[in-house]
Amino acid sequence: MYRFALKVYGCQMNVYDGDKLRTALIQKGWKEVEEEEADLVIFNGCSIRAKAEHKVWSELGRYGDSWNEKSKPYVAVTGCIAQRLGEAMMTRFPWVRLVGGPRHIGNLPEACERVMAGECISLLDEDPRAFIDLEVPPIERVNPWKAYVTIAHGCDNYCTYCIVPYVRGRFVSRSPESIIREVEKLVADGIKEVTLLGQNVDSYGLDFDNGYTFSSLLRDVANIENLPLIRFVTSHPKDFTPDIVKVMSHYPKICPSINLPIQSGSERILQKMNRKYTLEKYRETVSIIRSALPEVGLTSDLIVGFPGETEEDFQDSVAALHEFRYDLVHTAAYSPREGTVAATMPDQIPQEIKMKRLNIVNEIQSRIASEINQSLVNRTYSILIDDVAPKGEGLVQGRTPTDKVVIIKGGKDLIGHFATIKITSADNWCLYGEVIDIVD
Ligand code: SF4
Repeated sequence: MYRFALKVYGCQMNVYDGDKLRTALIQKGWKEVEEEEADLVIFNGCSIRAKAEHKVWSELGRYGDSWNEKSKPYVAVTGCIAQRLGEAMMTRFPWVRLVGGPRHIGNLPEACERVMAGECISLLDEDPRAFIDLEVPPIERVNPWKAYVTIAHGCDNYCTYCIVPYVRGRFVSRSPESIIREVEKLVADGIKEVTLLGQNVDSYGLDFDNGYTFSSLLRDVANIENLPLIRFVTSHPKDFTPDIVKVMSHYPKICPSINLPIQSGSERILQKMNRKYTLEKYRETVSIIRSALPEVGLTSDLIVGFPGETEEDFQDSVAALHEFRYDLVHTAAYSPREGTVAATMPDQIPQEIKMKRLNIVNEIQSRIASEINQSLVNRTYSILIDDVAPKGEGLVQGRTPTDKVVIIKGGKDLIGHFATIKITSADNWCLYGEVIDIVD
């Protein structure tokens, strides 16, 4: 029996792929162990941010001593980091024996076995439409109460700053039948919350040509019995359609929470980013969302310091924060990713200006988020308590339907239960609450 350790660096998609791979290996008779005891250590990593790549590079270097002494462990690098850097990692470190991108996840379990038999394998290829899925519900999950389900792979949008279309490949929707089957299996396993995942969930089905769209899928998932909560990420302003909020308002189990990345408040910069929507279209979409779901939790992503961003463009982004008053914004200073169009654009913005702009938007957004969160004190919510809180003894956590983290006084026995929670205080990051009643 082979022993493996799995290390995941990156977004929910990497967590989901990691859970699938773990399940497939365990089903083949492998045992998951601590890294020190493993025959094969698998790094499933993300390439979207340079930081995750640096982390994996430095982790890989650590195996030199063990390799020289014991010729183990073998190492596999998977996920989009492997698609971009796998060959270089294999060349540099003799212990890296398997590299495979996200489009070849279906071949990984067998490849792991061949590696243990002494082979050195690269599963990378240049065909961006290739996709070999792994039809295993991710049942060996990190969290037993909530699960992610990928509904589509890759992206065709080619935003000029983003590496996803190059490392995750072109956009491919999974069939509704296979998604529904997977969600039903998760529900039968006791899952209470499912998050549907895609780089752009709103494009779901556009490659089918039969009129089955993301709103059709949302409705079909919502009709699955005994599934109390459904979430989804991420939306794209160019593809968001009113029928999505129509379905959401019809089914209370679909959480009223939408991440609608604006990326910039400047029309000029949106064009340079190739985002394919205008500010006017974005504004209309927000208005449709807020009219259908008045209590919606609206979050966004914003990049400052994109090449050529003038002070005026930056002020447009500041104005957008004030106008849309998001619950949360994932802000980032633009960082060039090799292989993308924006990395070669002239007028790259000096680091100190980017950092100054980042500090300004973070400060404004913190104030807005704090005001919104303070207004929720004394409200009550039905919340699935799903984990221990990362800091502090005797604290657990869950999320409001609008996707705000709530830290709750209580023991681990509350985890896995729905409870009525009264919000007692708030800051700009999260809410704090106490249990009024255990619902189930
Ligand atoms: S929509 Fe744009 S930012 Fe999002 S994954 Fe696709 S290319 Fe990247």
